[in-house]
Amino acid sequence: MAAIELRGLTKVYPGGVKALDSLDLVIPDGEFFALLGPSGCGKTTLLRTLAGLETATGGSVVIGERDVTGIQPGARDVAMVFQDYALFPHMNVTDNIAYPLRIKKVGKAERQRKAAEVGARLGLDQLMDRRPGQLSGGQQQRVALARVMATQAQAFLFDEPLSNLDARLRLEARTFLKKLQRELGVTTVFVTHDQAEALAMADRMAIMEAGHIRQIGTPAEVFQRPANTFVAAFIGSTPMNLLDAAVRGDTLEVAGCKVPVPVSAEGLLTEGERLVYGVRPEYTTYSAEPAEGSLGGRVSIVENLGASHLVTLEVNDVAVQAVVPEGDEPAVGDEGFAAPRRDRALVYRDG
Ligand code: ADP
Ligand code: MG
Repeated sequence: MAAIELRGLTKVYPGGVKALDSLDLVIPDGEFFALLGPSGCGKTTLLRTLAGLETATGGSVVIGERDVTGIQPGARDVAMVFQDYALFPHMNVTDNIAYPLRIKKVGKAERQRKAAEVGARLGLDQLMDRRPGQLSGGQQQRVALARVMATQAQAFLFDEPLSNLDARLRLEARTFLKKLQRELGVTTVFVTHDQAEALAMADRMAIMEAGHIRQIGTPAEVFQRPANTFVAAFIGSTPMNLLDAAVRGDTLEVAGCKVPVPVSAEGLLTEGERLVYGVRPEYTTYSAEPAEGSLGGRVSIVENLGASHLVTLEVNDVAVQAVVPEGDEPAVGDEGFAAPRRDRALVYRDG
């Protein structure tokens, strides 16, 4: 087990795409670290550069005590699970799991023993003689996991390992993988474009955009205090309200209404300054009656979220959303008021 450290890591592909732009990142030993970002932001490149499958253009990669920047993939002691599992179709489960050990010249008896042990741990014991084509997607995914575990690497690297599973299996696999990682205590970098997956699984996470890391933090930090409007818009199952605002005395003018300055911005604003006011729909209450600092308008959309509803209010042509508990939801066309929580609202200057 080992910590991972990236120092000024840069990757420019032939042709000039700067996929990683001088990234600095420290992942402590044993951490489950999620790397989150939209398609094309550089997640796979980061993982492949860590594994040594891509050569860094600049900067360095340190795993444990060792600078591995110039070292071949096989000597880096990390194990990677790819999105498509990359199982060998002509080999059975045992041989697939044992393959990396064969490459490491581990003897046959020991390989078989290890494959059986890891296979049993992942609930594959009845399937060890089958080929990948005879397994479900979820079972194939477990074989890919077992193969990684059998190697006893210093770190596990996962590139969107759950994205080929259907929704229910994916939730199961999430819990399973997280539990397994806890038990093994192996430093893990988990790439996903699914913010819910990252929030659910990670000890800490980084949000990437266009080759840059935009924020690093625990899921709670990133959810409650996104560092900029990019992260604010990307994190959360309902997007944060991000509204143009102007400072007017001790209030903010937002969508033609006056709301109190958020607690987090007290004493930090300049009269007349323009900024972006951010508040999550989950931290915005809806009411049919006005309250001080609430935004009044007409309900345009009511979406069912299951135990709650997402209500969109048109406030002077600006859409403001609130999550409303089941039973309290208004009807489309109703007049209503959205009251953001002052202790949860944020302001941004990067909008
Ligand atoms: P992600 O995994 O976040 O979707 P990638 O790391 O695959 O992103 O890609 C990051 C950027 O690098 C993208 O603009 C992509 O088109 C580019 N890219 C990825 N692989 C190559 C390659 N082999 N050659 C040239 N450009 C590449
Ligand atoms: Mg990718």
